[in-house]
Amino acid sequence: MSRVYNFSAGPAMLPEEVLQQAASEMMDYQGSGMSVMEMSHRGKVYDGIIKKAEENFRKLVGVPDNYKVLFLQGGASTQFAMIPMNLMVNRKAAYIVTGQWAKKAYQEAAMYGEAIKIASSEDKTFSYIPDCSDLDIPEDVDYVYICENNTIYGTEYFTLPNTKGHILVSDVSSNFLSRPIDVEKYGVFFGGVQKNIGPAGLAIAVIREDLIREDVLPGTPTMLRYKIHADNGSMYNTPSCYNIYICGLVFEWLMKRGGLTEIEKYNQAKAKILYDYLDESKLFKGTVRREDRSLMNVPFVIGDKDMEAEFIKSAEANGFIALKGHRTVGGMRASIYNAMPIEGVQKLVEFMKDFEVKH
Ligand SMILES: *Cc1c(COP(=O)(O)O)cnc(C)c1O
Repeated sequence: MSRVYNFSAGPAMLPEEVLQQAASEMMDYQGSGMSVMEMSHRGKVYDGIIKKAEENFRKLVGVPDNYKVLFLQGGASTQFAMIPMNLMVNRKAAYIVTGQWAKKAYQEAAMYGEAIKIASSEDKTFSYIPDCSDLDIPEDVDYVYICENNTIYGTEYFTLPNTKGHILVSDVSSNFLSRPIDVEKYGVFFGGVQKNIGPAGLAIAVIREDLIREDVLPGTPTMLRYKIHADNGSMYNTPSCYNIYICGLVFEWLMKRGGLTEIEKYNQAKAKILYDYLDESKLFKGTVRREDRSLMNVPFVIGDKDMEAEFIKSAEANGFIALKGHRTVGGMRASIYNAMPIEGVQKLVEFMKDFEVKH
């Protein structure tokens, strides 16, 4: 078996221990005589799996009792519609646009009401997080929306916006469970799990109970109502059973490692190795304002397209996979989520140093 260091932005690496456990339970899950993907979601065994997954998620994150944890389908992108359909009762919402994912959410919301862009960092190709301490927020907006870690551009909020009393909605897809968060600061946060937690297709949404309402926008499909999922314990229809099981294993893995405080330290140490090198390198350069640099996605450039192509190709030949930057920005990007071991980053930096010496 030879595993590569996979720097993909998502789907991304999963912890080896989790993959091994899943493999060992594949043919016969704990004496049930079948794999988790073959069993009824209404059965006792699966009920245990989903309940334990939710319980461990709550423990890990510290979710208070007045918040629901929902396992939903359609990835993070479906949430771009579910948020306005369920929360935009005044048909007005404020969006801070710090990258493509925030922009997509903003454009989606505009289909249902008035989406107001209250701040943006598009003027400098999304290379920073705007000052959100005193934004002009219309009084009657239903919520303020952010994308907390910008996967493509490599920026991350380390201070949440001052929403001036409005509900905060946050897309945490690419920094999900990467550090502790204060749940009570949010009305809703959600993420697709394929970056930091599990297989693609599943989203986890954490929503304050009083925001789960009956009077959603007219025409909201049943499957897109938070209430239906909340009332049915995320089992209104067949959930992404196997994905939820894998997420559950990842939650256990995180707990064994000391939870989110410990994983944050580990992620900080990993990111520092890479950023320190980018700061000193004469060949490679980071593209993001220092104080906004993401712990998860690290974009960098050489500035010479041919040499960048050569670097990516040569890196791949040496077991460092998926370092090509997003198609819209070019250059390189190393995604170093929870499951990327620190050795992967150390070895990548050694490889980059070597490449620099040769060029
Ligand atoms: C990947 C990503 C998405 C889209 O996730 P899908 O599950 O593919 O819909 C949305 N937001 C952010 C921040 C992402 O990184």
